[in-house]
This record gives sequence, C-alpha cells and structure tokens, in this order.
Amino acid sequence: MSKYAHLISFGMRTDLPSEILRSLTRINAVYKGGLGFISKRSMSVQSRRKCNVVVIGGGAVGSSTAYWLKKRANRDLSVIVLERDPTYKEASTVLSVGGVRQQFSLPENIQMSLFGAEFIQNSTKYFGDVDLCFRPHGYLVLSSEKCAQTLQENSKLQNELGARNELLTPSQLIRKFPWLNTDDVALGCYGFENEGWFDPWALLGGFRSQAKEFGAEFLHGEVLSFDISNNSETLNSVTVKAKTNETCVVDFDICVLAGGAHSGQIARQANIGTGAGALSIPLPVEPRKRFVYVFTTQGENAPGPGTPLTIDLDGTYFRRDGMGSNFITGRSPCNEQAEPPITNLDVDHEFFETYIWPTLAKRCTAFESIKVCGSWAGYYEYNTFDENGIIGPHTYYKNLLIATGFSGHGIQQSPAVGRAISELILDGHFKSIDLSRLGFDRIASNRKMSESNIY
Ligand SMILES: Cc1cc2nc3c(=O)[nH]c(=O)nc-3n(C[C@H](O)[C@H](O)[C@H](O)COP(=O)(O)OP(=O)(O)OC[C@H]3O[C@@H](n4cnc5c(N)ncnc54)[C@H](O)[C@@H]3O)c2cc1C
Repeated sequence: MSKYAHLISFGMRTDLPSEILRSLTRINAVYKGGLGFISKRSMSVQSRRKCNVVVIGGGAVGSSTAYWLKKRANRDLSVIVLERDPTYKEASTVLSVGGVRQQFSLPENIQMSLFGAEFIQNSTKYFGDVDLCFRPHGYLVLSSEKCAQTLQENSKLQNELGARNELLTPSQLIRKFPWLNTDDVALGCYGFENEGWFDPWALLGGFRSQAKEFGAEFLHGEVLSFDISNNSETLNSVTVKAKTNETCVVDFDICVLAGGAHSGQIARQANIGTGAGALSIPLPVEPRKRFVYVFTTQGENAPGPGTPLTIDLDGTYFRRDGMGSNFITGRSPCNEQAEPPITNLDVDHEFFETYIWPTLAKRCTAFESIKVCGSWAGYYEYNTFDENGIIGPHTYYKNLLIATGFSGHGIQQSPAVGRAISELILDGHFKSIDLSRLGFDRIASNRKMSESNIY
C-alpha cells in the first residue's frame, strides 16, 4: 500500500483517509497478479492498468504535476499521465507566447509567477541540461489616467512580495523607450527582473523527460468516461481510448484533472455539472480562441532588441520574436459577443486589421506600416467564473484534484501548480504557497477571485 495514501485529506476533508485506504486495499487485492487483463464486466475492454495517481492531460500543468510527484515520491507512488495527442498540436502549452511576469493583482498569482520565473531561469537545476531560452527583457504595462491608481497599488503589492518593477511617468517612459507614443498614457509599470519570455516547448519537454526519468508513465489515450455507476464520492477508474482504438481502463487512487481547455468537458464525463446537489456545479472551463500574429516593420525608430513585452491600454500586447526583426502581437476580444468560434484553430485576419493594428500604429509610428508574415491560434483554458486558475480538491469527489482554468497565464504558473498539487497529495496541504483561495469550493460558494491583470 502506498505510504502516501493517508495523506489525501486535502486540508479540509479529514474524513477521507480511511475511505482511500479502503479503496487502496481493495484495488491492491484485485491486482495482486499484475497489469492487463480482459474485464469480465465489459468484454470490449482490451487492457487494464492501475496506478496511485492518474493525471488527465499531459500539457505543462499535467506534466509538471507528474514531475513533482515522482521527483518527491519516486518509487513509492505510481503515476500515469493520460494524453490524447502526444504531438500536442492543439495544446495551449505549445501555442502560447511563453510570457512570464509578476504584474498581477492577486498575491497567489504573483507568488506562483515568481516561482515560475525562478524555475525557468534555473532550469538546469531542475531538468539538467535543458535551456528554456529565457529572454529577460521585462514587461511594460501601460495605464490610462483612470487605471493609474490600480497600477500603483498593484506595483506596491508586487514589490512587497518580491517582484522588481518600477512606475514610470510619461517623460520617464519616453526617455527609456524613445519609440513610445505616450499621448494617452498616464503611467507605466516596467518589470526589470524576472519578467520576459521563454520557450514553452522546451519547458514541456523538460517536465516530460524528467518525469519519465523519475518513473512516471505517459499513456497515449483519450479519456472517454469515468466509472460513476455506484454514485460513490470517490472516482475509481477511467476508460481511455488508446491510439490503436482499443479501450483501456485505468484504475487509480487519486485523479488529477489537468485537461486544459477541455477540462470542463472532461468533468462532465464524471457528472460534474450534470448531477444533483454538489454535482450540479459545473467546472467553468471552456476553450476560447486567441490569435497571435507575427509581423515585421521597415519603419524608423522601431522598438529595439531589448524592448519589453508591452501591454497597451486595451490589452493589445507585442514583443520582439527571435533574433531577426520580427514581432508578435495579440489581444483578447473586448467582449463576449466578439469571441471567435472555437470549432477550429483558423486565424481571422480581420481581427488584426480591426482590433490590433490601430492600437499598434498609434503607440509606435514604426508600426504604421507593417507586414504580417505569420500567425497562429490557440485555446485559452478559459475560466468563465473569474478567469483564474482552479487549483485543489473537488467538493464532491474526494479523490479528485483540479488544476486548470488559467485563462492565459498558465504556462508560467505550471511549475508552481504542479508543485502545489504534489503537496496536496504528498503532504495533505499546500506547503510552499497557500493556494487554498483558488480552490473549486470558491465556485460553489460564489466567491470570485478576480484578477485585474488578465489579457
Ligand atoms: C495564444 C496563447 C498565448 C498564451 N500566452 C501565455 C503567456 O504568455 N504566458 C502564460 O503563462 N500563459 C500563456 N498562455 C496560456 C497557457 O498556454 C496555458 O495556461 C497553459 O499552457 C495551460 O497548460 P495545460 O497543461 O493546462 O493545458 P494544455 O497545454 O492544453 O494541456 C492539456 C492537455 O490535455 C489533453 N487532453 C484534453 N482532453 C483530453 C482527454 N479527454 N483525454 C486525454 N487528454 C486530453 C490535451 O491534448 C492537452 O495536451 C497562452 C495561451 C494561448 C492560447
């Protein structure tokens, strides 16, 4: 029996351990003989696996969770990561722009991103010889008169918590960034340490290869359903469609839901949001399409190589990309009605013309004439409740942990989130950063954790 089985109390549900212990005993008895057999219950099942922890979704968040669990528990805990597409062609992780900043308003977000920055800059300490290509050029957040006080308050909190940024008046901004038009800018906040961008693919690769090295198993398979036939408050098994099209049942003691943009849909497979009582509350995470455009400019006085990722008053951002003269840019739609359809990842070029280019051209004269030379789209795993990560136990299923909903800031937080989930499993409570305010229970109790710096 796992020596960690007693720890699954998640801080608030002290009635759990004996139940989990019982289920572990039962599962261990069934499996004494080892892995893989034809189930008598369903002849369509081709194989059966078991593990202590199953992680659904092998993106940055799921792979980080596997990494931290196996790094700490090693052979005492078996971990299987279920990933439906090992090429990751639609995963948010590899389609993100890899930004890391501490310019948030919630202490939890600031602290998670501080750890993310530490992790990313010291990747060799965690992964061995893996360079995450961190570009320490900072973030520059611009503010109008109306929002200047919030920017000041946020900057104060960020610096108190260990971030390093400075507030700049329009004249100071122009001195530092001569390409910047400050006509409608009242204040800017420039993060000069621990902010910049990195290679998300390399981070994912680092998590995966180290997690495997420590003994985690990555299974190519899509979660189809959970066994919820007995209305129990614990989930015990999940059915997966393997790459060869046969089904596999994975039995587990604990399940971590890290399915990114599809987490809400996966939760529905466990009756979350479609059941009664505590199960009537959905996991409010859905895909929202976001476009990224690559452009060049021949214009004079263009932002140079050390330019920070700059966020404009309307949320339009741009940064340099690579060693050439390319830039990337994007922004979120200004309201729900403007949300693009999510049926595919096609790029809408009118969105650039209508909502992005005018802002770029106004901010910097060199951007009045630009050429778009590339583009892509990806899904935010968008939390419709409060646009923030949901991290912690489910309120009905006692052995289900949730790690999703980061709405555009999850790649930088993946090191902290994986560590936090591993602490809940191995220590029974958050140890490094107290993330209890970001739990699923806030949705049930309608307690929004609103973050003012979402883009
Ligand atoms: C355009 C864009 C720009 C972004 N920029 C930034 C940024 O600058 N900074 C930042 O911090 N964040 C950014 N993000 C957000 C960031 O990418 C995400 O928050 C983060 O990658 C989420 O990681 P994840 O592991 O939860 O999701 P994913 O990477 O999507 O991983 C989830 C995995 O679950 C798998 N899966 C789904 N359903 C199933 C199933 N039924 N069975 C098995 N597997 C399944 C998927 O295949 C996927 O690989 C950006 C996102 C986008 C789209």
